[in-house]
Amino acid sequence: MTSDTITHSAEETIAFGRNLAAELSPPLIVLLRGDLGAGKTTLVKGIAEGFKAARAADVTSPTFTLVHEYCGPHATLYHIDLYRVDTQRDLETLGLDDLLAPNGILLIEWGEKFLRLQRDRNVEITLEQVGETERRIQVTRSLPHSIIPHPIR
Ligand code: ADP
Ligand code: MG
Repeated sequence: MTSDTITHSAEETIAFGRNLAAELSPPLIVLLRGDLGAGKTTLVKGIAEGFKAARAADVTSPTFTLVHEYCGPHATLYHIDLYRVDTQRDLETLGLDDLLAPNGILLIEWGEKFLRLQRDRNVEITLEQVGETERRIQVTRSLPHSIIPHPIR
């Protein structure tokens, strides 16, 4: 289940995020993939607006702080940047499991570095720079674990 979109400006990516928010319901682990400058943080601005959790201008990169929290009426968003987190041990000190409360949505940049997050993510969004201000945005949703058939033993 993948959707594919091209945006032509940061504003369009923010608008895309705003609309995407309507299709996201907690609890959720969302991986944001793409090179530096691809637009991951810009997309989070829109998602945060869609959840009425923050204004776009107030969403900044959690590069140094690692986790930013935005509280909305229907969900609490945690914007996480693992660019500078390299070991399993450092990841554990962030306590991501505790953040994934029933109304929690984790929006994680560079989460694919960790196998566990690759495995447990519910949604993966890949951004790719395809022009000066053009970005390709692919959204892939996983089937819930519960409906993936298990082999019969
Ligand atoms: P990342 O978090 O992936 O490193 P950022 O969102 O911080 O990327 O930065 C993306 C940069 O690219 C911003 O300066 C933004 O204004 C610019 N930009 C230009 N066109 C777009 C677009 N279509 N979508 C998103 N960002 C864009
Ligand atoms: Mg970023």
